[in-house]
Amino acid sequence: MAEKRDYYDVLGVGRDASDDEIKKAYRKLSKKYHPDINKAPDAEAKFKEVTEAYEALSDPQKRAAYDQYGHAGMNGGFGGGAGAGQGFGGFGGGAEGFGGFDDIFSSFFGGGARQQPNGPRQGSDLQYRMDLKFEEAIFGKETKISYSREAECHTCHGSGAKPGTSAETCHKCHGAGQIQVERQTPLGRMMSRETCDVCGGTGKEIKSKCDTCHGTGREEERHTVKVKVPAGVEDGQQMRLQGQGEAGSNGGPYGDLFIVFRVAPSDEFERDGAQIFVEVPISFVQAALGDEIEVNTVHGPVKLKIPAGTQTNTVFRLRGKGAPKLHGTGNGDQKVTVNVVTPKSLNSKQRDALKAFAVASGDSVNPQDNNLFDKILNKKGKLQV
Ligand code: ZN
Ligand code: ZN
Repeated sequence: MAEKRDYYDVLGVGRDASDDEIKKAYRKLSKKYHPDINKAPDAEAKFKEVTEAYEALSDPQKRAAYDQYGHAGMNGGFGGGAGAGQGFGGFGGGAEGFGGFDDIFSSFFGGGARQQPNGPRQGSDLQYRMDLKFEEAIFGKETKISYSREAECHTCHGSGAKPGTSAETCHKCHGAGQIQVERQTPLGRMMSRETCDVCGGTGKEIKSKCDTCHGTGREEERHTVKVKVPAGVEDGQQMRLQGQGEAGSNGGPYGDLFIVFRVAPSDEFERDGAQIFVEVPISFVQAALGDEIEVNTVHGPVKLKIPAGTQTNTVFRLRGKGAPKLHGTGNGDQKVTVNVVTPKSLNSKQRDALKAFAVASGDSVNPQDNNLFDKILNKKGKLQV
């Protein structure tokens, strides 16, 4: 295999690109190089390269591994561990067997153009939507999920043949899975290769079929898998569990399971990646005189010093009080925006105190002046005590 290009270069994005930017770049490039559209000789290779880069960078775990170890981080050690257990390689070696790529490829090209029809085929990938609470996405969690999938038949272990018997080589195609077909066309006799109609391309014929699966080699099962949600995942991100999809055929590995995370919003916090944002109201007295207030963070309440003379919409940073960085170490920050609240109504004592304040500030006070408080609050410098 030629030397692999950097995945970020392939997609033409920076190393700090957001998931959205990666998705956009992938959409653009995959359209550009799609072999159905682009007839250039290297379009298919480019398309494959782009897809591979996207598969790696759109998966939080793999992106983290890639950022840390480069292409070497892509060769195994990730995913659910069960099943094929060959990392990204799948079967067939190299980028060819790249996870779900074969499925994508097959659906684009009407199936298996580049594969031996009777060779092993990886099973289909599945998608599972996992709903997470706001905090669960931040701190991660371990959970179990159950879903039904096509598994290898437990009676015949996928062969489709009754126990004690085995599948025989197809009498029509002699195991090739394909047959030569001769056709009369306006241009003359044409020979073409087609999938064998007796064995459906498997190259094998089952004389006595397994009672459990009736020869398909598969059965529906309720499958349970442990999922470790990484701390810091975001809404819309997905994680691949290798080998947790559907059973392959002809000895091919299981497909993969893609877990797509849906993160519920919080009443209190806004989140963008590792950064968390909150708005906190303070009184104009606190803003003017300064105070120490308590601010909620996802890690618990934290004291925040409001300096005297703080203006409304000032943003304070609580370092390390954000969400964990998925592609790095440590936490992001929490940004606290303080809103100075102007009282809507005042009792007479408060009114007098403010009038006295205005007089002390050198303002002429007209009791009918409705803009009094605006005037006080908007005069920079006047409030600094
Ligand atoms: Zn069976
Ligand atoms: Zn056949």
